[in-house]
Amino acid sequence: MLIDTHCHLSHFKKAEQKAVVERAKKANVTKLITVACTLDEVGECIPLTDEYDFIWTTAGIHPTQLPVNIEHELEKVLEYAKNEEKIVAIGEIGLDYYHDTAEHELQAEFFIGQLNISKQLNKPAIIHCRGGKNPGENEQAFIDMIQILEREDFKNGVVHCFSGNRVEAERLLDMGLMLSFTGIITYKNNEELREVISDTPLDRMMLETDSPYIAIEGKQGGPGEPAFVADIAKAIADIKNVPIEEVVRITTANAERFFGI
Ligand SMILES: [Zn+2]
Repeated sequence: MLIDTHCHLSHFKKAEQKAVVERAKKANVTKLITVACTLDEVGECIPLTDEYDFIWTTAGIHPTQLPVNIEHELEKVLEYAKNEEKIVAIGEIGLDYYHDTAEHELQAEFFIGQLNISKQLNKPAIIHCRGGKNPGENEQAFIDMIQILEREDFKNGVVHCFSGNRVEAERLLDMGLMLSFTGIITYKNNEELREVISDTPLDRMMLETDSPYIAIEGKQGGPGEPAFVADIAKAIADIKNVPIEEVVRITTANAERFFGI
């Protein structure tokens, strides 16, 4: 039994969604969280959670999708997350210095506002953090994110599609956060990320595909999909030199506990 803790079903074409979910079931993925990046997407994801009892969703505004009216939007996130039973997390939220579509101060303000909603409702946060494009810029987003989390004394979160270094991973784990890993851990040039996985205890990690955006080694050209979570479990088992059953059992239990699903 596998769980894809982070996919974007609403970003697949409507006509493909059913087949994507069926292939996930065949690949032993028994629970899915389809993550929203905007308020509109929350509205698209809720019907999927009504249709399938094994699908849950989130409410949150992605740092590349920030609108102007902070207060109004945060109120809506709160309202959704408070009233919808199948919204199990606030996300995805965070900092994105790669696309850099909003001032860093505005990104921080939205991030903190949504961390507060997570605290208020006691629903965990799904955190996105992506560094800049140019060499040397890569660390700044992680430095800023860690500083915000420390200042807000925030622990009930997962840093999704973790792409930082060993020091940042250790710091986040020490602070009490979880890390989740996508198919990028299977890419040939990602040796440092495999070292992060070696260092990260199984009971502090979860699996996700971030599909359709991320595939796995050998399939980079095409879209990813939730069924690939099995390949990610296999990659972690190989890196840690433990049976795949152990990776599946522990990461599934982590996700069930963390999201209450
Ligand atoms: Zn995502």
